Amino acid sequence: MTSSLSGLPVWRRPVGVPMCGLIEGPIDLLVIGAGYQGLSTALHAARRGLRVQVIEMGALGAGASGLNGGQVIPGLKHDPEILRRMLGDEAGERLADFAAGTADAVFDLIRSEELAVEHQRDGWIQAAHTRTAMQAAIQRNRQWRQRGADVMLLNDAEIALLSGARGYCGGWLDRRAGAVNPLALVFELARLATRAGAGLLLNERVIRLQQRDDHWVASTDRGRTLLARKVLVATNAYSDALVPGLAESLVWLHSFQIATAPLPSDILDQILPGGQPVSDSRRILVYYRRSPDGRLVMGGRGPMREPRSAEDWAHLERAMLRLFPMLAGISITHRWFGRVAMTPDYLPHLHEPAPGLMAVAGCQGRGIGLMTALGPRLAEYAATGNADALPFPISPIAPIPFHRFRRLGVAAHVAWYRMLDRLER
Ligand SMILES: Cc1cc2nc3c(=O)[nH]c(=O)nc-3n(C[C@H](O)[C@H](O)[C@H](O)COP(=O)(O)OP(=O)(O)OC[C@H]3O[C@@H](n4cnc5c(N)ncnc54)[C@H](O)[C@@H]3O)c2cc1C
Repeated sequence: MTSSLSGLPVWRRPVGVPMCGLIEGPIDLLVIGAGYQGLSTALHAARRGLRVQVIEMGALGAGASGLNGGQVIPGLKHDPEILRRMLGDEAGERLADFAAGTADAVFDLIRSEELAVEHQRDGWIQAAHTRTAMQAAIQRNRQWRQRGADVMLLNDAEIALLSGARGYCGGWLDRRAGAVNPLALVFELARLATRAGAGLLLNERVIRLQQRDDHWVASTDRGRTLLARKVLVATNAYSDALVPGLAESLVWLHSFQIATAPLPSDILDQILPGGQPVSDSRRILVYYRRSPDGRLVMGGRGPMREPRSAEDWAHLERAMLRLFPMLAGISITHRWFGRVAMTPDYLPHLHEPAPGLMAVAGCQGRGIGLMTALGPRLAEYAATGNADALPFPISPIAPIPFHRFRRLGVAAHVAWYRMLDRLER
């Protein structure tokens, strides 16, 4: 029961450890947070010749990037037509185009750099639990097919065959997607970034940022002071008071996960035989995949507070047995959780509250592709100042009114959504 690396399943731990340390001389770009966002930006900025320092308050992968479900899904929560409606034709189209390629960014990097990241690219299934959800899948399918994406609808028999799960009336298969070992991707990004010349400091927290002339001064909890021309605050759901208003501009939710013991082959053969990870269409969704060593790994929303006992994961175990009754009696060997950053409009946000200070937040549970793909764009912007490199506009930080009470609101919403999920047909 943990959100820290020490409790992560052994099979998720990567082997290689990147070089850590401080670069010498002036820093062009200080990156705070060593998840996919921070490391991908550091990698590409260092390759552009910038002098880059990354600093991470925990162990490598201690944030969402090391703890997530490993589902590499292109697109955003909103479909392309909604993006155009929300942002206008040009900006909406630009974001939809970028979002379409985020899974490519991950798998292309793994292939071209020969990264030691277990991965599988056989698609991702969004399973519909009601006819209403199936209608949404039909719309999604139409919109992505019009854009030439390799996607298809699944009927009830097909979803039953591909998932092995009970109770779905259909679904949507997005063949652009797949799954990775999420923690291995963090380690490999860190290895590439440090090999490209970036410095990486771990277990050191930035506690203050101050602007001095044309530089930023970062102070750490170890008494260190770093001077940088530009700063990227890549802290996402783990944002604190470093940038005023940033933490209050998003709501983080806990996502909990469980992993079974390796499954006997007769049971394993019946579960996700095609290898695709699945997220279902419930408002309070569950997502699951097979691990390379033959476990079922399932995740979903958890309590807003820190977990107290294994009982806090019991709802996931119930969901697992509802979908896969043949797992009755199989032991759960691992339980862990992390934070997911949600924004009120379900879009990622990019801020520049002062010249040279950037912050990106909000992935709504789709950050593997999104943040990996954003790295080269943020690096280009940091190096050249060319805002055309950015896939979505820079916006002011907008703290959510009554943010302090937000967690109570979320808990009430979750209870309400769970009830709707149970009632809806
Ligand atoms: C349980 C779970 C399951 C998920 N499943 C999926 C999935 O299947 N597919 C998907 O695409 N996405 C998924 N996500 C979301 C995805 O993991 C995130 O969107 C993504 O990892 C965000 O990357 P990031 O680099 O922006 O943030 P993070 O990886 O969270 O990195 C932020 C880092 O900043 C550090 N930090 C914070 N403050 C400071 C400070 N003051 N000084 C120094 N360091 C600091 C933190 O320690 C942290 O390591 C999931 C998330 C969770 C928690």
